[in-house]
Formats: sequence, C-alpha cells, structure tokens
Amino acid sequence: MISFDELAAFCKRRGFVYSSAEIYGGLAGFWDFGPLGAELKNNIKQLWWKTHVQDREDIVGIDGSIITNPGVWQASGHVESFVDVAAKCRKCGQLMKAEEKKCVKCGSKELEILDKKNLMFKTTVGQDTLSYLRPETAQLIFTNFKLVTDNARMKLPFGIAQIGKAFRNEISPRDFLFRSREFEQMEIEYFTMPKDNTCPFIEEVKGIKLNILADGMKKEEEMTIAQALKEKFIKNEWHAYWLGFEYKWFIDLGANPDNFRIRQHAKDELAHYSSDCWDLEYNFPTGWKEIEGIADRSDYDLQAHMKASKKDLSLHDETSNKKIIPYVVAEPSLGVERAFLVFMFDAFDDDKKRGNIVLHFNPKLAPVQVAVFPLVNKLDEKSREVYKLLKDKFICFYDKSGSIGRRYARQDEIGTPVCVTIDFDSLKNDDVTIRDRETTEQKRVKIKELEKEIRNIFK
Ligand code: ATP
Repeated sequence: MISFDELAAFCKRRGFVYSSAEIYGGLAGFWDFGPLGAELKNNIKQLWWKTHVQDREDIVGIDGSIITNPGVWQASGHVESFVDVAAKCRKCGQLMKAEEKKCVKCGSKELEILDKKNLMFKTTVGQDTLSYLRPETAQLIFTNFKLVTDNARMKLPFGIAQIGKAFRNEISPRDFLFRSREFEQMEIEYFTMPKDNTCPFIEEVKGIKLNILADGMKKEEEMTIAQALKEKFIKNEWHAYWLGFEYKWFIDLGANPDNFRIRQHAKDELAHYSSDCWDLEYNFPTGWKEIEGIADRSDYDLQAHMKASKKDLSLHDETSNKKIIPYVVAEPSLGVERAFLVFMFDAFDDDKKRGNIVLHFNPKLAPVQVAVFPLVNKLDEKSREVYKLLKDKFICFYDKSGSIGRRYARQDEIGTPVCVTIDFDSLKNDDVTIRDRETTEQKRVKIKELEKEIRNIFK
C-alpha cells in the first residue's frame, strides 16, 4: 500500500484533493476537493443515502443546520466533555493527543502533558451570542426527533439519517484527509424499544464473515456474525446487524475485505454517552484505524434533551399504553473522507505492466464512468453523437487530445471503467470499440447495443 503522503501527491496531481487555499500556504486540517474528488465524494454520499435511506422503509433523512442553539451542546455534554488532552513531544516539539502515548512524528515517549482542550470551534452569532460549529451531525437528529417521528409517521424500530459537515479543532490534524478539522459525516440514529435485543433483519447479515476483535481478545479472528452472536462477542442483535450492514456496504462497493475488521472498545475507551461501542476499522498504511464508530447510546441523548429543553420527547407505546423513551441501539457514524480514503487505497494500483497507475474503482463510485474518444479530430461530429447518447445514462467525459494509448492511460489513472472509441469504420457500420479498464480487452459493439454492453461490464 502506498503512504498517505504518496496518495495526497497523487490526489493533487489528478485533481482529486488540494490542500485548502494552497496559494496562501493552505491551513492544517482543511482540504478542497477538485473536479474528480468532488465527483467521487458525491458518489459516496449518494450511494450511502440510497442504501441507508431511500431503499429502506425504516429510515428517513434530515438535513440540519451547522450552527444551532448553543443549549444543544450544553445538554449533549459536548461543552463539558468533548475534550482532548494535548501533549507536546520534548524531542521534536510535535503536538498530539496525550492518549497517543508516544510521539506521532519521531516515536519518542518523552511527552509533556498540556491542558485539556475542547474540540468545538466557537463562533459568534449576531453581535454577541456565543455558539459552536457542530462537532457531529447526531445532535440535530435528537433535537428534531419528535417532529420527524410525527411528520414521517415512524413506528419503532426506525432510524433518522443525516449527511453533513462537522468541525473539530483537532490538536494535530494529519494523515492527509484522515484527521481533518472540517469533514463530513454520514450518520444514523437507530431507535428501538428500550432494551430491545431482537432485530427482524438479523438473517440478512448472519452469514457475513469478517474479522472480529472483541474486548479481551489478543488478535482478530475471522468468524460469521452468527458465530459472534452465539459466542456472545456481540451481545445485541441490533448491534450485530448494523456492524454487518455497514461492513457489507464497503465490500459491495469493491473494498478489500482483508483490510477490514470490527473492534470493540475497551471499557475505559467508551465515550461519555456510550454503553458499548464497536469500530469498523481499516488497515491504513499507518496501521488499523477507525473509519466508522457504531455506538450504543441508550436513551442518554433524548433524556438529556428532555431535561434541558423541558419538552416531552417520549413516544406513546400502543401495546403498553405508556410513554416510552426509545433507545439508540446503534449509531453508525461514518466519515465521508475516511470512506474516500478507503476506496482510494483499495483502488490504487501502480501497474508496472501497463506503465501507468490504475484505479480499480467500482463503476458506481468512479468519477467518470465512460470516456468517449474520436480516433482523430475529423470524427468529432459522429463522436459527439455517441457522447450525447451516453451522457444521460452515465457520467461521461469527452477527450479528443493525445494518442489513443495516452488517452486510455489517463482514464486508467482516474479509474474510468469503460472507454469508447469512434473510428472511420464507425461511420460506415454504426459501431465503436469499447475497452474494459480491468482486462484492457477491446471489442467492437454496435452503437444501438452500446448501453447494454456497458452495463454488462458494470455488473
Ligand atoms: P477518532 O478516535 O479517530 O478521533 P472519534 O472516535 O472521535 O474518531 P467519532 O466521534 O466516533 O470519531 O466520529 C465518527 C466518525 O467521524 C469517525 O469514525 C470518522 O469517520 C469521522 N471523523 C471523526 N473525526 C474526524 C476527523 N477529525 N477527520 C475526519 N473524519 C473524522
């Protein structure tokens, strides 16, 4: 696997990601997405939204504001507890979180422990009202819980999802996009009856095999979700369901299963609101790191907001005819940028035989799905006809400059699954050459069959 720095250099060269406002020297922890990066990021978000919201009857989405009433962050515990203790390396001066224990730059264990630091960015609303940029999207789901439940007529169990920006004034942003100060989260709060352990969807994930590292285990072991439940590594069916579902989302989009594991938090690692938490981890060039946290938050947040706002956020349970406060049995929380890194690392291949880099993106993720080339400029008119035909169906790119070999290589480097070339025979026979990125095989296809042939390659 290439390093974070090498990936960052590649991403800059090909227009995926730039350091923010680079002409001013950038700003640590902030990144701008270029033309291809914006497409890839949008594809990730759209695919997540489709599988987690649009394709499900039990989840609805919201889009909350970034700055909200500061009372939200008081009630949630973030003003008080969303802190990291900073440490400074006595040898090289590098800043980091004290919990990292040794210098992230030079490895020295001689660290000077500094003050606690709240990670929320402060801002002023109007003339003098202090507020914060949200450090997570989750809280807006809780504050809108009652309205959404009523409007969407949701019945337990159900989830509320959100994709949006979050901001954390990290002590030491690093590893390219991995630890940034501005990033996006894709989150769900999944509500069930209190202490409900029965998931009606569990059969869908029971057969999934993955690497599991439960608290107390020395090394991860490969097992099925069914086994993990049976041996009580995972105690709650709902938690098991969401771990399996989230893992499968990555694998279905072409990520490499060997680079994944799920890890249970040790008791002393749990966040202030959480009674059990598992992370979906990825084996980055710097080792296993969290890409998604799946916490059990019980009724901590709804209770906290009820107390602070003095509003009733309970639901009426028809069976018992009583008021209940639902539990958040799982809160899958995935960073868009960390998903972006996973797909990039797994797709990246410096193909020595071809003499160029190939990104093996799943076609659904690829920033460009089909590239259309006229063999020579004279064929521009016919080629644009083909381009127009495909443009409504796929994300297309038209390129008429350079040799065909050079154009193929350029598309390999950005992960385009299919290239379509129009030559002089195309004028006579109404056909084109299509080239498959994975095999480099080329074949002649009638224009009227083109969409079907491309969809075949995408399968
Ligand atoms: P870490 O331990 O890496 O700081 P965390 O446990 O604080 O992460 P959560 O609060 O669980 O993270 O946030 C949920 C998800 O949001 C993470 O799994 C990650 O994908 C993303 N995320 C959190 N902090 C950052 C960050 N600074 N930069 C990019 N993504 C982040």
